[in-house]
Amino acid sequence: MNEQMERRRFLGLAAGGTLAALTSATLGAPGTLGRALADSRTDFPAIVIGSGFGGAVAALRLGQAGVDTLVVERGREWPIPNDRDLVTGNQDHPVSQMFWMRRITDWPAVVPTLLSPVAGIMELSSEANLNIACGAGVGGGSLVYTGVTVPPPRKYFERLYPRLSWEEFDTVWFPKVRAMLGASTMPDDIYNSAPFTHSRVWDAHMSKVGYSPELLPSTFDWDVIHKELAGTVRPSAIAGETDFGCSDGAKKSLTRNYLPAALATGKVQLRSLTEVVALGRTPAGRYTVDVRHLTPDGKATGTESYVCDRLFVCAGTLNTNRLLVAARETGTLPDLPADIGSGFGDNGDQFNLYAYTDLPAGPSQGSPCRSGTFHDTEFDVPMRAESWQLLGAHGLPVIHTLSMTADFDNRGTFAYDKLTRKVKLADWTREKSKPSENAGSALNQKVVNGVPGVVPYSLTWPFTLTAHPLGGVALDRSTDLFGRVKGNKGLYVLDGSLIPGTVGGANPSLSITAIAERAMAAIVREGG
Ligand SMILES: Cc1cc2nc3c(=O)[nH]c(=O)nc-3n(C[C@H](O)[C@H](O)[C@H](O)COP(=O)(O)OP(=O)(O)OC[C@H]3O[C@@H](n4cnc5c(N)ncnc54)[C@H](O)[C@@H]3O)c2cc1C
Repeated sequence: MNEQMERRRFLGLAAGGTLAALTSATLGAPGTLGRALADSRTDFPAIVIGSGFGGAVAALRLGQAGVDTLVVERGREWPIPNDRDLVTGNQDHPVSQMFWMRRITDWPAVVPTLLSPVAGIMELSSEANLNIACGAGVGGGSLVYTGVTVPPPRKYFERLYPRLSWEEFDTVWFPKVRAMLGASTMPDDIYNSAPFTHSRVWDAHMSKVGYSPELLPSTFDWDVIHKELAGTVRPSAIAGETDFGCSDGAKKSLTRNYLPAALATGKVQLRSLTEVVALGRTPAGRYTVDVRHLTPDGKATGTESYVCDRLFVCAGTLNTNRLLVAARETGTLPDLPADIGSGFGDNGDQFNLYAYTDLPAGPSQGSPCRSGTFHDTEFDVPMRAESWQLLGAHGLPVIHTLSMTADFDNRGTFAYDKLTRKVKLADWTREKSKPSENAGSALNQKVVNGVPGVVPYSLTWPFTLTAHPLGGVALDRSTDLFGRVKGNKGLYVLDGSLIPGTVGGANPSLSITAIAERAMAAIVREGG
């Protein structure tokens, strides 16, 4: 089946209802014997940990290959789309559901608010000198991301992966992923609407200082955004929601493409609110996966242990490193490569703001990113800049630029602390963020200096933040070129931890998903 047909079939499935409904259709309704048997099964040929980009690819391709597969996801299935209500909270209405097991908010433009530790939609981990954000829920980071779906420039891809072929990615894997995720650029009528004043201003200012913004594909659903503009559904993306999800389904998250397609194979089971706490091996060499079950309000209700022949660790960079470094250091998987945990990078994420006076901002500004620029040699490090917005600006004419860099030098290490029995980012310093920080603020300053009426603007924001944690289990170092972990037959890593600390000047989701697709094609073809 070609990609377009495959995608249309999946979208049809996704439109048919929730993932829970699909599960009922394939495994039996809750309360039936068949379903009880399915739900109590603990032994599988394959287990996938995490339902984000890497996990969703693994689940779909295993299911299509006829392999009985369990996907274990710590977070909830969120009741999205909801045309009328705010499901998860936003910057203006902070609620506990915005964060995974946190007691206080710590997010740009959110008033510090006390929270109950619940199974919220985004994990924000306060590591030393760096906050790390990632998705937590069925669909992983695709729930909270802003959908920008771009590759790095060819020369940085080739520097990162000298043994991968750019031509192969450019002609096979990137187009396949873009088609599956449904990435496209913002239509002109949306760009010219009031909530995207900030996008037009960003483009005009960048042009004024000598750059040519290019259109960037993203995975927003423009049909839903047309409905928001027409007032037939509650404004979400046009009101700036994205970081904590778009309740009306304005994003084409993995819950609308890869995941329903995986469940529809009838071979894949998904257990949400099931958190993996430890990995190990049986005496016969099979993999063990210890889990605890959670309620949506974060209470643990019990534990279980699963076994499998093939284990796909796709918990995202932060949690894959936590699971694997802990397993190696506590001796439950003693043969894991010694380099796992090293080579972490923040993708050079930086956030810069300025205020302008040439146009009124309008009461609220939309979240989808329309365009970006690439600055190869002008600043301390090669940098991509993207036009974002700031929910919480409340009509202030503020421009927000997200930048990310190709910094090949600054790296950190995840290490196990015997005292707390936790894995933490051990050695990140503010200095390691400096080249990227300098590049981002130099571009911002260039606009401030070059455009009349523009003035610096900043949030009092005492930390550095990455929404793009990467590395620790680098491809072609800790694994082979297909995510097979060295020295551990049947163990695979397919997520952001394969990317060696930087995407090379791009947002990560396209690279992660394309690398996972290529890996799964080989794993299925070669039987492991
Ligand atoms: C605010 C924000 C905006 C972003 N915008 C963009 C963007 O515009 N474009 C882009 O390309 N990228 C963006 N990203 C980054 C993107 O979301 C991530 O790079 C991507 O999701 C990583 O994919 P992954 O497969 O590594 O893991 P994830 O998508 O993070 O999935 C990992 C999954 O594993 C689950 N999990 C973790 N630990 C356990 C456990 N112990 N047991 C069971 N399950 C577990 C998690 O809940 C999660 O569902 C953004 C991120 C954030 C936070």
